[in-house]
Amino acid sequence: MIDLSSKVAVVTGGTRGIGLATVRALAEAGASVVLTGRDEAVAKEKAAAVAAEFDADVSGLALDVTDSKAVAGLIRGVAKERGRLDVVVANAGVLEDALIGMIRDDLVDRMLTTNVAGTIYTVQAAARAMMKHKTGAIVVLASIVGEKGSAGQTAYAASKAAVGNIARSTAKELGRYGIRVNGVAPGVIETSMTSHLGEEVLDKRAADTPLGRLGKADEVARVIRFLASDDASFVTGQIVGVDGGLVL
Ligand code: NDP
Repeated sequence: MIDLSSKVAVVTGGTRGIGLATVRALAEAGASVVLTGRDEAVAKEKAAAVAAEFDADVSGLALDVTDSKAVAGLIRGVAKERGRLDVVVANAGVLEDALIGMIRDDLVDRMLTTNVAGTIYTVQAAARAMMKHKTGAIVVLASIVGEKGSAGQTAYAASKAAVGNIARSTAKELGRYGIRVNGVAPGVIETSMTSHLGEEVLDKRAADTPLGRLGKADEVARVIRFLASDDASFVTGQIVGVDGGLVL
């Protein structure tokens, strides 16, 4: 069992899906976790539920990752208040499907601002807080489509390719401070992000997956937890596929 007791973690977009599953996985392993979401009441409610489930220290705070000052302030505040910051999971992300001929400027902006700029702001704030202690683990959420491309998802796939690159670039830059940066590249995971795809498309994706099914949020969360833990102490700059073999 991975032991994260005495570790302090922040998870962005922790109110549902993979983010919430990650909060649960970290809390289960003994970490103190700060869960963030755009709505403060929702973040607090979800945090209280996980705290009760695992008898763990889990708190909820409001954060929009597109606001660089808010990201910097929240992460700096957590590190100052707790005296340390061990793990940051840059999970918040959005998906808007649109064919290249149809995609609107506002949707391109939304995906690039949330998925790319939001991840950069989060990794930057984490790095600044972790540098002085010369230790820390950052995990970002890439995607299988960042590697393979995806018809109808050009902007999203481009944003996720960028996220993989953020992990590799910052791993090179931050290694000297003892900070590891890794990512996961999920395949199709059953969350609210994929529910709009409809039964027919999801059945086809499951059939195309060597393991013959879609993934569950907690299956991604357990890989994130490994990358966040000291068990991955010599792993950095890696994007780990969690896709049931769909990338093959
Ligand atoms: P969900 O849509 O279920 O959850 C997204 C989370 O991101 C929510 O908690 C939401 O919080 C938060 N969020 C969205 N925008 C912002 C913002 N501007 N600031 C802060 N938080 C925000 O998605 P998943 O759990 O499925 O996805 C999580 C991550 O995994 C994403 O980065 C996604 O791209 C990636 N991923 C998912 C895959 C899948 O198949 N599901 C496949 C590959 C990658 P709230 O609305 O409460 O603010």
